[in-house]
Amino acid sequence: MVDISAIAGTVSALKGAMDISKAMIGLHDAQAIQSKIIELNAQILEAQSSAFLANEERSTLIEHVRQLEKEVADLKAWEAEKQRYQLAELTTGVTAYAIKEEMRGAEPSHHICASCYQEGHKSILQREIRNPGMAHVDVCQRCGSDLYVIGMRHPDHKKSTASRR
Ligand SMILES: [Zn+2]
Repeated sequence: MVDISAIAGTVSALKGAMDISKAMIGLHDAQAIQSKIIELNAQILEAQSSAFLANEERSTLIEHVRQLEKEVADLKAWEAEKQRYQLAELTTGVTAYAIKEEMRGAEPSHHICASCYQEGHKSILQREIRNPGMAHVDVCQRCGSDLYVIGMRHPDHKKSTASRR
């Protein structure tokens, strides 16, 4: 988390510069004035570097807020999107989320990966036919899950490209 110490530093340095300026009023000795000018310059430099820091902190905060806003927007979008699906059994013991008929609109009927759903991601399952055995497999391209809907897993079955990562 970012603090706001740079702003406090700037304020305190500027206040110091003001105090020195006030102390200079009424001085008539050139030596004393010269030494106050040196003090004043140092104080102004300090205020300047604090102001730079404060500006950097401000940029960091703005970026942080922007990222949080995006996360909130993504979460809200997913909260709405996930309501369009319900858990369904593809075959005994094999589950995925199916698009609710009344929420489908113009989209074709489809299923999304249950594991990815739990992680807050929508990943549409794609059907593959694997040989030998003509097995019908629903594959998630995101996490590499493969769900055997018809037929059995066989040692010669190649996993889909996504699952090799
Ligand atoms: Zn998945």
